[in-house]
Amino acid sequence: MTPFLKQIAQKLLNLKQDELESTLVIVPSRRAKTYILKYISESIDKPIYTPEIVSINDFIYNQTELMEADPMDMLMQLYEVHRKIEKNSAQSLDQFSTWADLLLSDFNDIDLYMVPVDRLFSYLSDAKEIEKWDLDPQKLTEQEKNYLKFYKKLYIYYIELNKALLKNNTAYQGMAFRFMAEQSSYKNINYSNIYIAGFNAFTKSEETIIKMLEVEYSAEIIWDIDKYYFENKSHEAGRSLRKHLYNKDLNKIQIIEDNWLNDNKKINIYGVDGNVAQVKLAVDLLQKQIEKDPKIIENTALVLGSEDLLLPVINSIPESINSFNLTMSYPLRLHNGYELITLVLNLYNDYKFEKDNTSDLSIYYKYFTNFLLHPYIQQYLPNNTSKDLCNEINKNNTQRIDKKYLDSISSKSMELRKLIELLLEIKRDVRSSIDIIISIFELINDNESQAWEKSFLSHYIEVLMKLKESLAIVTHIEKLNTIKRWVQNAINHSPIPFIGEPLQGLQIMGMLETRTLDFENIIILSVNEDILPKTQTYKSFILFDIKKEFGMPLPSDNDSITSYHFYRLLQRCNSVNLLYNSAVGGMQNGEMSRYIKQIEIEIPEVNNKIKIKHKRVKFGFSSKEKTQDIVIEKTDEIIEYLKNWSQESGLSPSSLNNYKRCTYMFYLQKILKIKPSDEVEEKMAYHTQGTVLHESLEDYYKQYINKDLQYEEFSKTSAQIKQVFEKKLKTKYKTMNTDTGKNLLTKRILEQYIHNFILMEKAFLKENKSLKILGLEEDLKKHINVKIENEEINVLIKGSADRIDLVNKTIRLIDYKTGAVDPKDLNITKTAKADKWLQMFEGKLDKAFQLMMYAWMYWEQKPPAYLLETSISALKNHSINLPLYLMKEKSISQEHINDFENDLEKLILSLFDRSKPFVQRENTRECEYCDYRSICGR
Ligand code: SF4
Repeated sequence: MTPFLKQIAQKLLNLKQDELESTLVIVPSRRAKTYILKYISESIDKPIYTPEIVSINDFIYNQTELMEADPMDMLMQLYEVHRKIEKNSAQSLDQFSTWADLLLSDFNDIDLYMVPVDRLFSYLSDAKEIEKWDLDPQKLTEQEKNYLKFYKKLYIYYIELNKALLKNNTAYQGMAFRFMAEQSSYKNINYSNIYIAGFNAFTKSEETIIKMLEVEYSAEIIWDIDKYYFENKSHEAGRSLRKHLYNKDLNKIQIIEDNWLNDNKKINIYGVDGNVAQVKLAVDLLQKQIEKDPKIIENTALVLGSEDLLLPVINSIPESINSFNLTMSYPLRLHNGYELITLVLNLYNDYKFEKDNTSDLSIYYKYFTNFLLHPYIQQYLPNNTSKDLCNEINKNNTQRIDKKYLDSISSKSMELRKLIELLLEIKRDVRSSIDIIISIFELINDNESQAWEKSFLSHYIEVLMKLKESLAIVTHIEKLNTIKRWVQNAINHSPIPFIGEPLQGLQIMGMLETRTLDFENIIILSVNEDILPKTQTYKSFILFDIKKEFGMPLPSDNDSITSYHFYRLLQRCNSVNLLYNSAVGGMQNGEMSRYIKQIEIEIPEVNNKIKIKHKRVKFGFSSKEKTQDIVIEKTDEIIEYLKNWSQESGLSPSSLNNYKRCTYMFYLQKILKIKPSDEVEEKMAYHTQGTVLHESLEDYYKQYINKDLQYEEFSKTSAQIKQVFEKKLKTKYKTMNTDTGKNLLTKRILEQYIHNFILMEKAFLKENKSLKILGLEEDLKKHINVKIENEEINVLIKGSADRIDLVNKTIRLIDYKTGAVDPKDLNITKTAKADKWLQMFEGKLDKAFQLMMYAWMYWEQKPPAYLLETSISALKNHSINLPLYLMKEKSISQEHINDFENDLEKLILSLFDRSKPFVQRENTRECEYCDYRSICGR
């Protein structure tokens, strides 16, 4: 295989030395120049003068003597133009930034395609055209009128921006290309040979320049073409080439090869489940290839269809590949440094200022902990500082981080002190946020040792410095959102350009960067539809039909360019591995690219020497397998632990209810002792609301323990409960404001629950004359003997009844519930359709199970002459007494207790049963509110 650029090098070496000295080669990219020089140096044994080799961009900017305009500066210049034109109706910087990029992109296309601007803009704003949109000018809304006014002014925007840029001797790409294309002659072109090599599609301005070079300076155009896609008139990879070579005069020299139809080639296609799996497979393939032939790496390209795989690929490069070179742009928005910027801006956004006094600064704890937990900050701070601080904040239920707290922790380390000093510099002026972000990146950069990370951090600093400079022309920026938007703009306009020079080792590159290059061995990742080719959404101020009429590019033109890059890259290689992500979910549709389908269908018909294999590959960690059921076998250690724990700590009704619902959750909670995340409560959490109510009722009713509670006396004292509740609330939510927003609403609801409870109690007392409270939050416990693998163990069961009442020789065990209770769930019956008794032991009817547990534990304390009932005081249902019915009976009998004990024993035995491993629950819908979801993966 002779690479295209090697053929160019050989052509150049055929020239005489003096001809070589005055030769110019124009190529699509700077990378092509590096390769031509490499091929030249490999073919000579003594020094020679090399020709001048330039990218077309460099050539045009050199010729026009213009400088490439910086995108951010250009946006600011456009904003100045906008203010000049719109005067008092000018938009804020924020509003302006929503459409400015689109307008600049249209201006660029207009110039690249040399569209007559006056005609285009008058066409756009032409009233007749407006009528074609079926709009009656009389009936236009204010917004529509403004929209039309804006269209009418586009020409002035274009002219004014061009003027402003030229004043600084700068130009955007289209502007420079048009400027040169419109010249009647070119200066400084004194070459005896000009070659234009490796292009496949020209814009109108490029075509005009190339024609001029061809006609006036005898330039030769060297195309890189394969017959397969060029001569097949329906093949989109050859569309642009056919357009240029058949219809135009650009046809002097061509390199037309016939590799696709004649060569041997191996094409392996892999559908892989997920992006991580794609990277793993690519690395595995590379390793196997190197084991077979270590030299292969020198002629291998790993091509990334999508940039988001760049960092995973770099981090997975095996040690056997000791050198690699990166040639592609990586969007900063995909890098985690961008997240750090967002976190700092969140801190800024939330900073509370009182007067001008910084001592009153405070930050919402979550913004602060998220900032501390960012990987860059965690790495910058010594040891476990970030995590320790977050744990401390969570433990203390700290809501807002104030200056006092920041001062108190700053002595922990020099690094933390420096970071806090920066945070305390946050000022009211939102513009200063950029300075703080820069300083934070500088701090991290100073501490960073990895060259790779340093290049990212330095790029952020550079981009933000430039942004600061660009924003300097705007005198007043009020909103942080404006800063956020412009930081986002700057990041989007400043991908980090990895343009490595070394030509040794593995070459990692994007598809665009493969232009004109050839490799024997190629691995391409993300060969998915929507990526290769990329789905183009139509974004332009210029209507589709108008673009078409003026010969401007349409989305389909981009598709044919990508298709050319793909087929050209593959035409000379021997071995190709095409990987696509076959996982479906989220934004992924798991569809392979149309190029794969074309290759599979068309190539076997034209060349049977190309061997194509298509495989599906699954790795153990694929996303699907990750969510498969988790099964934890009961090992000797687990059984031993359970025996000890159940006898010493004991089982409670709630732990048994959890066990019945999901044995895996029980395993996480009771055996691994994993607590659900104990984050700071931002609002009054549901479970703590229940605690406040329980404790308030307990505190208030304490005065009546073992006394007759009578209507008259109760009526006099019941108002006290309000104060008890207020006091409890204050103790529970020390640092939380419960008098505003959602907390206030919750507080009012809880007050209403208490009020209702008291009213119900009064009504009950009025009717029943009196009752005696025997206990409040009464601890209950009982042991049950079970035989585990020939060993008798004495399992402790324990719980606490919220209240125990005596009413007319009936003892009532009461459980308070703040949530809704369905009385049907307390009506335990056995019918042919449903055995609700058994359901109590199978993960359903938790409340009935809990009440029966209390009854079973209390049974022996009950004096023989008394009856025993259990009930729920359902505060939400406005019901003080929802009794448990067992086969329609309220009173619990010895038989019920015996039956319950039998089934409880079976339930406990199942906990120790090795044939019943801990597994996830079957019904995933019920996992929605589980605190262990993130661990479990459901
Ligand atoms: S998420 Fe579902 S399966 Fe997982 S532990 Fe929680 S309840 Fe069990």
